[in-house]
Parts: sequence; C-alpha cells; structure tokens
Amino acid sequence: MKPTQQKQFDKASFQDSVKKHLSATYATTIETASERQWYLAMGRALAELTTFDLLATEADERIKKAKSVNYLSLEFLIGRLTGNNLISMGLYEQITEAMAELGHNLTDLLEEERDPSLGNGGLGRLAACFMDSCAAQEYPTVGYGLHYEYGLFKQSFKDGRQQEAPDAWSGVEGYPWEVARPELAQEIGFYGHVEVVSENGKEVRKWVPGMTVKAMPWDLPIVGYESNTVYPLRLWECKAIAPFSLASFNNGDYFEAQHALIDAGNITKVLYPNDNHEKGKTLRLMQQYFHSAASVRDILRRHEAAGYTLASLPKQETIQLNDTHPTIAIPELMRILMDEKGMSWDDAWAISSKTFAYTNHTLLPEALETWPESLIQRLLPRHMEIIFEINHRFLQEVRAMWPGDGEKQAKLSIIQEGFHRMVRMANLCVIGSYAVNGVAALHSQLVKKDLFPEFDAMYPTRLHNVTNGITPRRWLKFCNPGLSALITEKIGNEWPAKLEQLEGIAQFADDAEFQKEYMAVKKQNKQRLADWVSDNMGIELDTNAIFDVQIKRLHEYKRQHLDLLHVLALYHRLLKDPSFDMVPRVVFFAAKAAPGYHLAKEIIFAINKIAEKVNNDPRIGGKLKVVFIPDYRVSMAEIIIPAADVSQQISMAGKEASGTGNMKMALNGALTIGTMDGANVEIREEVGDDNIYIFGLDVDGVKRVKAAGYNPYDYYNADPLLKSSLDLLLGDEFTPGKPGLLRATYDSLLDGGDPYLCLADFASYVEAHEAMDAQYRDQAGWAKKAILNTALVGKFSSDRSIRDYVNNIWKLEAVSR
Ligand SMILES: *Cc1c(COP(=O)(O)O)cnc(C)c1O
Repeated sequence: MKPTQQKQFDKASFQDSVKKHLSATYATTIETASERQWYLAMGRALAELTTFDLLATEADERIKKAKSVNYLSLEFLIGRLTGNNLISMGLYEQITEAMAELGHNLTDLLEEERDPSLGNGGLGRLAACFMDSCAAQEYPTVGYGLHYEYGLFKQSFKDGRQQEAPDAWSGVEGYPWEVARPELAQEIGFYGHVEVVSENGKEVRKWVPGMTVKAMPWDLPIVGYESNTVYPLRLWECKAIAPFSLASFNNGDYFEAQHALIDAGNITKVLYPNDNHEKGKTLRLMQQYFHSAASVRDILRRHEAAGYTLASLPKQETIQLNDTHPTIAIPELMRILMDEKGMSWDDAWAISSKTFAYTNHTLLPEALETWPESLIQRLLPRHMEIIFEINHRFLQEVRAMWPGDGEKQAKLSIIQEGFHRMVRMANLCVIGSYAVNGVAALHSQLVKKDLFPEFDAMYPTRLHNVTNGITPRRWLKFCNPGLSALITEKIGNEWPAKLEQLEGIAQFADDAEFQKEYMAVKKQNKQRLADWVSDNMGIELDTNAIFDVQIKRLHEYKRQHLDLLHVLALYHRLLKDPSFDMVPRVVFFAAKAAPGYHLAKEIIFAINKIAEKVNNDPRIGGKLKVVFIPDYRVSMAEIIIPAADVSQQISMAGKEASGTGNMKMALNGALTIGTMDGANVEIREEVGDDNIYIFGLDVDGVKRVKAAGYNPYDYYNADPLLKSSLDLLLGDEFTPGKPGLLRATYDSLLDGGDPYLCLADFASYVEAHEAMDAQYRDQAGWAKKAILNTALVGKFSSDRSIRDYVNNIWKLEAVSR
C-alpha cells in the first residue's frame, strides 16, 4: 500500500471518457442512453484506468524477474467487479460524485452489472478471494481460468421446482472490464497419434494432434487494494482456427471442416454445473486440457521472455492446482520439456515435480476425479504414455517401501484396475507435486490420516494445511458499509488490509452504546434484505425476527434437509403445543442444485412447498416465515450476509472441507450454529465456545454411529417431535389434494438410510436452536456475542491464507509498485 502513489483522479477527463464511450463504443447519446448503457460506458472508462496499470505491472522489470504464482482453476466465481474495483482503486467517493454530476446514482448503476458466475460455489469463490489477496499484498500472480460463454445457470422456481436458464453473463455488448489479448493466443491440439522420430541420433516421441483449436486470452484486472498493482485473471476462450482445415475445405470436404469448427466452439461454451461431483464427460476433459495446455504455454512464454533457462522454472514459477481439475498440466509440462525442448525424463521430472503444488478440496468419494484410461488415450495419446511412465517409476518406489505388498501397489497406483481402467487424478497430483494442502486444520488432518496416509509415509514433508479465507474488502468493506463505518470510527481505517486489527473492537463488546450502534446497523441490513424480499418475492418480513440463514450449494452432505426438519418441528409445535413460545424467526435458504441431482431438486421443492403453507397460515400469527431466495450468487450473498443473525453451518462432520460462507457470516456478526466440521472448528477456537453454538456428532462420533450399524428408524421411533415433524411430509399438508409429493425427502431420511445422519443429529440441533432463541431475548447479550464474532475472526482473511501459501509453499516475495 502506497498512499503517496494514490491515483491522480481527474474528474472532468473521466466524465469525458464516459461520454466518449457512450457514443463511440455503445452508439448512443447522453440524451438517449439507457441506465445499462451508462453503466457500460462507466465500466469501460474505469477499465481504461486499470488496463493502464495492468500493462505497467506486466512490463515492470522487477515483477518480470520475480518469482510468481500461477493459480490454475477451472472456476473463478468473481462476482461483480465494478463496486469492488472502485474500492480497491480508492475511487468510490469520487466516482459517486462524478456520476451524480452526470445525473446518475452509482448504486443504481452498479445494479446493472450481471455477476460473472464463472464458478459453482466455494471452490470458485476461494479462487476469486485469493486473486484479490495476492494483488492486495503485491505478490506476483497470474490467475488462469476459462472464459465460459455461459456461467452457472440462472435459477428460478416454477410451482416450487427449480428451473434452469442459460447465463450469458457478458451480455450482447461484452463485459466492460475485460481486455482481449490476441497477441498471447495459443494453439492447442487434441486426438491424433504419437510418432517416433530420430533427432540428432536420439529417439524422440512426437504427438501429432488430429485437431487443433485456438486459445484466445481475455484479461480481467485484479486491482490491488489501495495500490497501483494490477494482476491479470487470464481466461481462455476456445476458437476455431480460421480458415479451419484448409485442406479438407479445398477437397470439398466442407462438412469435415465445419465439424472442427463446431467442436471448437463447444469447448468453452458452458461451465459444468456440478459442485463436488464429477461426471466424466469427454467435453469436460477437453476443457481441462485446453485450460492446462494454454496456461502452461503462457507460463513458459513469460519465463523464457524474462531471460530464464528452463532449469530455473521452479525457482521462478509455482503452479498451484486448485483441486485436480487442472492435473493434466503435469503430463503436459513433461511432454513439452521432453518432446519439444529435448530434455531427458530425469531433467524434465526434476523441473516439473518442483513446480506444481496441489490443493485438495474434498474427501467425498464421488468428487474424487477419475478418467477412463481409454478416453485419455484417445484424446491425449502422448499424455497417457507419460502418465504410464510416471506411474511405472512411482510403483518402483512403492515396492521399495513396502516390498511384496500388492495391495499397497493397487491402492496407490495412478491406474485403478478393473474392467474399465481409470486414471486417478488425485494420485497423479500428489506424486507430481512438491506440496499438497488441505483447506482447514481438520480437513488437512483427515487428508493425512484417511485419504493419503501412505503418501504421507512416503513423502513426510509434502502434506500441508492452509486454512481458507475470504477477502475482507468484498465481504465486509463493500457489502456492509454501515458496519465498516462503525468499525473505522473505533479503530481507524487500516483493518481492510490488516484484519487482525478487528480485535480492537472486542473491548467495546460490553459497551452498551456500541452494542446499540452495532445492532442498529444489523437492523438496517435486515431492512435492506426485507425490502429486497418484498420487492422481488412479495413476502413481508418483520426485522425484529431472528434472521436464520443457510446459503450454499444444495447438497445432502450440507444438510439443508436437517434445517427443513427444524422448520417442520417449529411449525408442529406452534400448531400443537399451546405452551410453546418462540422469538419470531425467518428461515432463509438460497441454493442451486446441480441440474442432474434429483434428490437435491426434491429438497428445494419441499422447502418451497412448506414455505408457501407456513407463510400464509394464519394460525401461527406470523411467528415463522420461510424464504427460499432464488438464484443464489455472489451479488445476492452480498445482501443476505450482512443481514444474518444466525449462520447455519450444519454439514455432517468430516464432509465439509472448510466452508467459507461460515467465515463471511461470522465476520458480519452472525452467530454460527454448526457442527465440528471444516473451519467451524477453527472459528470456535477464535471466538470461544460461548460465542458459537456447536451441536451434533463430531468426526469420531460419526464413525462410531456408522460402525455400529446406523438405523434412522431407531431415532424416528424414539423421538416424538422428530416423528411428528417428518410425518408432516407424508400427507397433503403442504401439497393440498396431492399427498405424497414430498416423499422423496422423507424416504431418503428413512428407507434411504439417511446417509448424512440428519436424524442422529436432530435432537442436539433442536436444542442448540433453543439456546439461541433464549439468548436472542437478551439483546445485550446477543449483541456482545455478535460483536465478538466480528472482532475475533481476523484469522479468516484470505490475506492470511495467501501469506501461509507464500511462506510455506510458494516461497516468493512481494514487489511493491
Ligand atoms: C461463499 C460462497 C459460497 C461458499 O459457501 P459455503 O457455505 O462455504 O459452501 C458459495 N457460493 C457463493 C455465491 C458464495 O459467495
């Protein structure tokens, strides 16, 4: 941060630039331009400023020569850029004024931006927070991703059921923040065969692709907070090579030539909408290779342009693999070093195996990627040879470590034997990387103990932990201006870059005046959300109610259906138990289900049907409301999170690797009700047991219950409240005249075996909610806990996560501009 280098902002020339873009770029006039065109013109005018700094950062000799991290991720869930970039550029107030003089309200203009939803959920959002923190701390960084034409689908509800629509995020006009970099385009091959040729008396293997496409990069500016550093998020778009196959065109084989064109257009057409679930589709592997190959080539181009030799690659570049999705980058680098640069296996491996690092994001078996050997063989024949060779050499190490132990070899081999042999991408990653990390302390411990114990024995220094984090710029300063101002009043304005300073407000946790101000901000944020719900959903909410929030992808392991069971229990008690009293509550859900995930969609349907009935039932006197906000996305999270009183983080222990929604809500003063899972464990360590509501089985408890032969009927039959709540799903209570429509959820929890132990945790969950209800009646006590949550979660800044990567894995240095 260099306040002395604060941008010289010239309001008049900025306004001229906006006007120029209105006419020259968007072919309209000041008189006739729509609100959207004003937003676009403003965006272009701002992007000119950041593009200047992007190119200056790129050209900076010290940065060219410094070690960089290359963050490879198939997903970057960046959310809207304009508001956030204004904060980083330190121009929020100036632009507000400049646009007001032109007759436009900045807040309204910002609403015109469509979220670039180039990710599914936590994994993609993490990548976005990491880019922000790398730039903020001026660590040389390039983010590499894909320029999907369609991001994550838009969600709406029809008769309570999820509908999906394509998300053309960049609009017909193009996204104002991106810049095309055609001079950095790459050519990427697929299919074909391997030839053996002799070069200088040496036998060299050469891949001859059967199809070639073009990778066209688009740069999005990642603006360092209050600095002039701008690093690129480089997104590759797949294009056909014009004039495609000239030979077949001239031969009159027009269709064949067109065919390649069609394939190329498809590769970056759409983001796969599965979160934590792999679906082994050919096009998905093509996306992965396209992304890896273009990125590795760009990294080598930069490295060589800086004047470095290939041998020094690990000294200059780290390639961080965000999950196994970019794993194919490992054999791709090996192939280039050997087949194109003429290196021996040993020399190539010495470089490659010190360049890659891998982040594991999940232990869920259905999320661990495997690809059919036959598919890789067909699509990438040379890469399959290299994978076999990596495996062959690795299995020699295994045999040396555990002589004669065939089981160990079978378990650790990159190749999973069977009728269809499969390539295990996680194994390839661990073998081909110099560092592997989990994303929260508990998760990393489980990676060591349960997922990769043998790898830990073979490579005892390879496994690390880096607990996830979130950027406090977007997730406090930008999304919660009221709380930000209150904090700044007390502790000054350095906290967005030094989040540990928030601890300074802990001393005001007992201060009655501060408690009042803090709760008044919360009330305003609740009103903002209530207004949104009223305007968009026609449901009226009371801001005196507890705002109880579960927002995340819909997944059985995250247990939205346990939350739903609690709603049913409250509803049942309100109707049947005259002595039951509760603080009014609004239970919020927001979640997208993967389009092919049947039960997840049934759970959405059940929540919507129950909401319809509960929200309009005069018998419960407005005590309970259920709101399922459609189309959950970053810009929606920015409205919901500051308004949350209760943060639901209720995954079955051992299943949520970290979570980051938990961090965002605690930072904004919501109290967590959660299991001992993921980063909840560390949030509890930071805020203290009194300021969090932990319930349910822990990892050992889950193992114990499962080992004993879990039967959900045991809990169902023993707990009358649980039975009554569940049974509400059976009749036509929520689907008048059509009993049984909500059976899918009921069945999964009983005859389906309740794989995520909702019933086992139900009683303890209800008890924790009761404790929160009792606490909320004491507003001063609640305020104290909320303030302490904000004060004590500084650890979860993604700036700290990035420093952990830098110090323990990347080993690089900041370059300030
Ligand atoms: C933070 C975030 C997530 C991750 O939420 P979890 O509760 O950690 O699963 C997913 N989607 C969006 C839009 C987010 O902002």
